[in-house]
Amino acid sequence: MTFDSSPIAAIATAPGRGGIGVVRISGKNLAPVIAALCGRDSLQPRHATYLPFRRADGSAIDQGLAIHFPAPHSYTGEDVLELQGHGGPVVMQMLLARCVEAGAEIGLRLAEPGEFTQRAFLNDKIDLAQAEAVADLIEATTEAAAKSASESLSGAFSKVIHELVEQVTSLRMLVEATLDFPEEEIDFLKQSDARGQLSKIRATLEDVFKHAAQGALLRDGLNAVLAGKPNVGKSSLLNVLAGSDVAIVTPIAGTTRDKVTQTIQIEGMPLNIIDTAGIREAGEDGSGPDEVERIGIERTWAEVAKADVILHMLDADRGPTLEDEKITARFPEGVPIIRIWNKIDRSGHKPAVDQMPDATHIYVSAAEDQGIDLLRGELLRIAGWQQTVESRYLARERHLLALKSAGEHLEHAAAHAALDNEAGEHALDLFAEELRLAQERLSSITGRFTPDDLLGVIFSRFCIGK
Ligand code: GDP
Ligand code: ZN
Repeated sequence: MTFDSSPIAAIATAPGRGGIGVVRISGKNLAPVIAALCGRDSLQPRHATYLPFRRADGSAIDQGLAIHFPAPHSYTGEDVLELQGHGGPVVMQMLLARCVEAGAEIGLRLAEPGEFTQRAFLNDKIDLAQAEAVADLIEATTEAAAKSASESLSGAFSKVIHELVEQVTSLRMLVEATLDFPEEEIDFLKQSDARGQLSKIRATLEDVFKHAAQGALLRDGLNAVLAGKPNVGKSSLLNVLAGSDVAIVTPIAGTTRDKVTQTIQIEGMPLNIIDTAGIREAGEDGSGPDEVERIGIERTWAEVAKADVILHMLDADRGPTLEDEKITARFPEGVPIIRIWNKIDRSGHKPAVDQMPDATHIYVSAAEDQGIDLLRGELLRIAGWQQTVESRYLARERHLLALKSAGEHLEHAAAHAALDNEAGEHALDLFAEELRLAQERLSSITGRFTPDDLLGVIFSRFCIGK
């Protein structure tokens, strides 16, 4: 990550019209900008001052509040100036342009996405997991996710990671101190209760992983693709699950042409259901799909490949058809499948769940709301959603991978520690090395050992002005 430390400016509020709009500037010394826009040498730190924002000729662009946060007591750790004006896109653009003009002599430029938060990270105001929580809080789609993101931002997740790193480090130091006295190696493991300490650390890690997994599910949700031939009732199912009319339900085949994603909650778990264009293969009924439909079909299969679960809907009244077989043939390996037999109000089946080798079969009626709770339960089971485990913090897939890898290294360490006889001559070296690797993986969560290119990716996903 190349870091260009010149002062940056951006509109920090969302695009569009609003009561207030904020332009934020961060840099080492913002005095020239304050002088030019606010018409004074300095502003009282962290106090709102009502004044006109001036053009070069002294006329006012807008009237508003200027707040100066001198370094290091600011979001970024640098000098920050916030200008709160009226939230119209034209006013905001004029104000931003004026800031860039006034800041020319100090090299002020427009900020890249996430650059304010990136500076906060680089200046040690927050760690990487907290920086990610900023983006997650802004993007949260449910109250529970927002609450957990806020917990992560306040450092709850970082704290447990730090504690784990510290425990691993102190054990590692103990082991490495012993390495200098080879004749004592064998006794060391017993005397220091290194194994006991290690198993305590492993238990803690497991607990952290459980909560983080729940937090990651809360952030990303379970991705379910709804597939099936036209008219089996996919849109109807989506509607009954969502409890509102999000998709168009009509009796004409092939009407749901575009992909519709709807996030709903089941017992607090976000479920992203992607309703697909009715899958219709060419030649089936003489009339092949048209161009628009073909694009929809291609998109459908792209979604199916990325799904956590495939919901294959069939008509229980008509039974399986050749088309259903063709659909099944295209399902990717390894993604769990739920076969939803719909319209049991017509077929006479009872609502039921049937675990079969090929898939879980569930009998429902979307129109009559029968068996839908069975489907909800099965989705929670597949996701591994535990209502009893509250998510104390929001987590990302990246964090889970790091925790998992750290856990594996600790498992190796335990295996090496078990060899305390002659055969395990180098066991202590290996023990220490595995601890070092575990420590590194854990530290990557908060950013101490995170490669620069990964940092770049994380911050570039932010919106501008953050
Ligand atoms: P899609 O093309 O797969 O999205 O199917 P729709 O949801 O648009 O439904 C197609 C037709 O089947 C509509 O006329 C629905 O009213 C009807 N339908 C959907 N679910 C049921 C059901 O459970 N029972 C009965 N009898 N009809 C249903
Ligand atoms: Zn190993």
